[in-house]
Formats: sequence, structure tokens, C-alpha cells
Amino acid sequence: MIPIIDSKRQYATVGAEVEKEVIDVLRSGSYILGKNNKAFEEEIAKFLGCNHAVALNSGTDALHLALRALDIGAGDEVITVAFTFVATTEAIGIVGAKPIFVDIDPDTFNIDVNEIESKITPKTKAILPVHLYGQPCNMDVIMDIAKRHDLFVIEDACQAIGAEFKGKKVGTFGDIGCFSFYPTKNLGTMGDGGLVTTNSEYLKNRIIALRNHGGAVRYYHDEIGVNSRLDEVQAAILRVKLKYINEWNKKRREHAAYYNELFKDIKDIETPKELDDTYCVYHQYTVKIPNRDEVHKLLQEKGIGAMIYYPVPLHLQKVHAYLGLKEGLLPNTEKNTKLVLSLPMFAEITEEEQRTVAKTLIECVEKAKSKASV
Ligand SMILES: *Cc1c(COP(=O)(O)O)cnc(C)c1O
Repeated sequence: MIPIIDSKRQYATVGAEVEKEVIDVLRSGSYILGKNNKAFEEEIAKFLGCNHAVALNSGTDALHLALRALDIGAGDEVITVAFTFVATTEAIGIVGAKPIFVDIDPDTFNIDVNEIESKITPKTKAILPVHLYGQPCNMDVIMDIAKRHDLFVIEDACQAIGAEFKGKKVGTFGDIGCFSFYPTKNLGTMGDGGLVTTNSEYLKNRIIALRNHGGAVRYYHDEIGVNSRLDEVQAAILRVKLKYINEWNKKRREHAAYYNELFKDIKDIETPKELDDTYCVYHQYTVKIPNRDEVHKLLQEKGIGAMIYYPVPLHLQKVHAYLGLKEGLLPNTEKNTKLVLSLPMFAEITEEEQRTVAKTLIECVEKAKSKASV
């Protein structure tokens, strides 16, 4: 049995430190918006290289409150991708705006920057690129388009903490960056958590108010907000784990390189590509294979925890039926949805396990192929 991620192994390395910090919080009597929250916001802003970070309850709230803070709502359009987790467009829907889907670049699975401009209309307010699987989008091109068309940029960096484009961390290019600390993310907490980053003092203050019932001063409310604070227990856990993120990301990259090596002579297995001058953090290690569903089934039978991220592209999900979008709109998105398979990837995976994954995958690809040809 090799799981796609094994959180228990990470706990074995940080558990003692985490337990000490959590007990301190429990004994402190201060559970919401206390000293850990503040310290974590400062530490992670420094790590990412931006002026401000505001901790929230989830990555979904980070996206939703980013849109709120930029006054994006009913009647507005936001350009994004359908090859992502639903939270990206859910946030757009929550504020009443409309997602406008752009196809992906099949090499990186990220937004096809060459198609963005053709989707801009007078209603477009923002571009919302997703750094999927920990792979940075081409932020030079996206920022240039945004500047020329006077659009906001909100980065969905939920899968890409620590990833870099030309030496700068993703999530710090646009007006607002959004992060998630869901347990399986590269920096995961032991519950839910999220974060926005910004260089704007105004946007920071707006989000601080929005996360706490729409008011900066307690019991004085300026607008409709939400309850989306990161609690002290999670903040304390994240402060411990933040110290390890560089090391963990580095290990993920080494594991990715080793998988690449193991698959290098197998022409039916297409390994991930990286854009030039990027630091990809491999939230997922995702290959493209023929007969994907059959291979996935065979792998599961052999105890290899592979996953499909994501089985249905967002423009074809029921939640977006109201947009009236049809199959054929996003050919690369639709095609790659049927090819992708993410393999076990976490800092603590061993080379021996990787060899087992690779050997089993190669066998399953062969088996599925011979089955498909009869
Ligand atoms: C995880 C994730 C989110 C949402 O984060 P939550 O903390 O689970 O709300 C948003 N976008 C992407 C791409 C994600 O992977």
C-alpha cells in the first residue's frame, strides 16, 4: 500500500513540536485572533516576500474575500480556468460574478496566456490564474495583459506555496494572492486554514474587516462580512510547519526528478514539464497516460494511491449549467482531463516506494494497452 499522501509520516517529524505549541495555546485561554495569528501573518509575509498577509479560515474564503475586497460582484466577469478545483469558481459565484473560462496550456495544465485577451469584454474585472499542481503560471504575460487592460489579478496559489516564477514567489505578483492550508496542501494545518497576501495597505485592511463581520472596530460594522478567522491552534501549528516548508518543497522536487528518471524511457507515460526559470513545488506529480481510467483502476487494485485531479472540468459541472457551456468549448482542458493521473507525492516518500510506484504504473499501462487493443 503506497498512499498518494501520508500525513502521519509528516506528523512523526513535527508532532512533538506541534503538541507543545498547541498545549501552550490551550492553556493560554486566547483562542481567536491572538498572538499566534499575528506572528504567523508576519512570518509568512516575510517568507513569501510581500507586505501583508491576512490569515483566514480557508483557501475558498481567501478567494471569495479577495473578490469582495476588489468590489467584484454582480454583472462582472472574471477570467479563469476550468481545469482546477471547484473552489476557484465557487468564489466567483459567491460574489455574484461570472466565470469566463480560458483553455489550458497542455504542457503546464495552467491558463493558456495566449487566449486570455480574446476573452476580455467591457465587463471583465479580473484575471484569476491558478498555479495548478504547484506549477507557476507565466506571470510576466498575465501581469502585462492586466496592466494594458486595467484588470485586477487574483492568484489562486492554494497548491503552490513556495513556488517561484523568475525568482519571485507566486501569490505576490497580482493584487491579491490566495493560499490554502487544507491538511493535504504543501503547507497543511490540522484543520482548515487560508491566507491572502497583498502589497496594498487598503486591501489588507479591507480583508481584515471582511473576515470579522465587516468592521475594523469591534461591534462597529461597515459592511456585510463573514466569520473567517484562523484560530490560534491552527496558527500555532502553521508557525511550526512554516519552518520546514522549504525543505519539504525541495524534497518534493527531488522526488519529481526521480520519477522523471524512472519514466524516461517509457513513451506512453508523459512526465510533467516545467516552464523556464520557475521553481515548481509539485503539490502533485501528474503524468499523462493512455487508457487512464483502466490504468487507475488497476493501480488501485495493486494498492497504489493514484488520483485524478479533476475528473470533470468545471465548465461541464452541474453547478455551472446556468452558463449553458457545451463540451468542445475548451479542447485542451477536456482532452487532458481524460489523460491526467497524479501519483504518490509527499516529502517523506522513499525511493524504494517510488520505484514500486513506477514499476507498477509501467506494468498497468502495458496491461491496459493490450486489453484496449483486443
Ligand atoms: C485547495 C484549493 C482551494 C481551496 O482551499 P480550501 O482551503 O480547501 O478552501 C482553492 N483552489 C485550489 C486550486 C485548491 O487546490
